[in-house]
Amino acid sequence: MKPSPDLHTHSTASDGTLSPTELVARAAAAGVTTLALTDHDTVAGVAEATAAAAEQGILLIPGVEVSVTWGGRTVHILGLAVDPTSADMLEGLARLQGYRGWRAQEIGRRLQKAGYPGAYEGARAEAAGSLIGRTHFARFLVRQGAADDMRGVFKRFLVSGKPGHVPGEWTTLELAAGWIRSAGGVAAIAHPARYDFTRSKMRRLLGEFRECGGLGLEVVSGSHSRDDYFLYARYAIENGLFASAGSDYHGPDKPWIELGQLPALPDGCTPIWSLPQLRRGEPRAAA
Ligand code: AMP
Ligand code: MN
Ligand code: MN
Ligand code: MN
Repeated sequence: MKPSPDLHTHSTASDGTLSPTELVARAAAAGVTTLALTDHDTVAGVAEATAAAAEQGILLIPGVEVSVTWGGRTVHILGLAVDPTSADMLEGLARLQGYRGWRAQEIGRRLQKAGYPGAYEGARAEAAGSLIGRTHFARFLVRQGAADDMRGVFKRFLVSGKPGHVPGEWTTLELAAGWIRSAGGVAAIAHPARYDFTRSKMRRLLGEFRECGGLGLEVVSGSHSRDDYFLYARYAIENGLFASAGSDYHGPDKPWIELGQLPALPDGCTPIWSLPQLRRGEPRAAA
């Protein structure tokens, strides 16, 4: 059976370990025929991925994963089929990129105080000129032997209450959805199970998201359990949202799911890839 579209992946433009070209080649080799590149707060990898996809004969959907602060928490909003040259969106993303730069320095200062000097420089080196994030700090700290693995390093240093944590001050749901819309794209809430919201808070998020013009909910995600697929399929159906699916692939190293391994959407969902915006680059059927 043909693998499902994979509408959530990362490259070296943010915190993935494969270049856009390598990512697309690996996806194509795994049988994926529709792939979205959704780097954190940047579309810098999209042009390279689009060229690589043309070469491989697969459909590349230009995307982005926008960092939002909502209800006191960081929520990720996927922009799918965005025009990567949209001035409105690029301006908004530039602000988030500026904040990432400041936050990285602040994480570095806090880790230094906690007895881990050089983390900012180390994370900068891990990012190698790409947009910096906590993953780069995590990779540096693991290399330093401060923790055994990525999971452990986040738990000990980078999450709320830990020495290198800086509370996110990203953008609003409304602005993020607005940028995506003005770039001609479709907004979807990424990995909803990761937020640990109560049922009523999740309903409030979905309601506000719809009011902002949001259309999709990531039902199948590399970071969801099987039970989550069914729970969020129900949320999508009950709230009139299109269902999305994405591995959230960051590279061949664990703990991320491998490309081409995404299960099908649960019955009753309306796939987000049925929207015309996501089919623009598809080869047209012969008349
Ligand atoms: P940032 O947007 O810079 O705050 O970093 C968020 C990213 O950190 C996510 O997209 C993941 O790639 C990574 N991440 C968050 N939590 C974990 C974890 N527990 N283990 C491994 N990676 C994580
Ligand atoms: Mn990431
Ligand atoms: Mn995310
Ligand atoms: Mn992601």
